[in-house]
Amino acid sequence: MPEIPDLEAVRHYLMPRLEGLTVERTEAPVPWLIRTGAKDLDSLVGHQFGEIHRLGKFLLFFVDDGRMLVINPMLTGRFHWVDASAKRVGLTGVVMGFDDGHEMRYSDQRRMGRWYLVAGEDLASVPQMEKLGPDVMSLDEDEFVALLRKRSGQIKNVLTNQEVVAGIGNAYSDEILWEAQLHPHRKRSTMDDDDLRRLYRAMRSTLEWSIQVVDETVQSEGLGKKEEWRQHLRVHRRAGEPCPRCGEPVKGQERSGSETNYCVRCQPLFVPA
Ligand SMILES: [Zn+2]
Repeated sequence: MPEIPDLEAVRHYLMPRLEGLTVERTEAPVPWLIRTGAKDLDSLVGHQFGEIHRLGKFLLFFVDDGRMLVINPMLTGRFHWVDASAKRVGLTGVVMGFDDGHEMRYSDQRRMGRWYLVAGEDLASVPQMEKLGPDVMSLDEDEFVALLRKRSGQIKNVLTNQEVVAGIGNAYSDEILWEAQLHPHRKRSTMDDDDLRRLYRAMRSTLEWSIQVVDETVQSEGLGKKEEWRQHLRVHRRAGEPCPRCGEPVKGQERSGSETNYCVRCQPLFVPA
């Protein structure tokens, strides 16, 4: 599932390329991806996109008439930026042709992505949007600590709950907790402010570093081959490999279809008093 660094890379890649281009035609081979109605897509013809923003795991494409194209790629949504003559790969769900001969395509192997075209002021009408917590990258340390202090439960669940803070998923929660040396099942209520401050700094450094790494990869390789770029991660999906900090084999724990990875030595569950 694409997370903040993946979506930032898509945004940084597409924004300068879309600048000044006008939509010439659209096509929706998988019409139900467009939740506000596939016919909506045609109304983009003749329009241009302005800025692209990211909010949690959503990308927001600003349209020149005040509307907004809101996209949540969910598990397997990929963006492609290709010449219109290029062969289609994967399960192409949406195509937008521009006046310079390029196409922005969206493929989605599991067809679970969600597109919405709404008036800018109706952003809150997009499902999940109203309940969405603040984007985690928009918070300063004090705001982050104050928000998490109000929550109970295991810290990994708190961190990935989009109603608490938006943008962190399974992969980056493992990375951030490893960096902060906090066990994923540690109860938030057993963590003091120092733990939460350490968690905030681990979150910033992990995500800022990852945004840079993924950006560089995507700028050189282009979009479309993947929906997520994970080669730089240190513990996520590395069960059995040595922990880069202490050498202990990374632990993998499968729960309801998603894997949690951590180091039992660096991330103790019980901290001696
Ligand atoms: Zn370790």
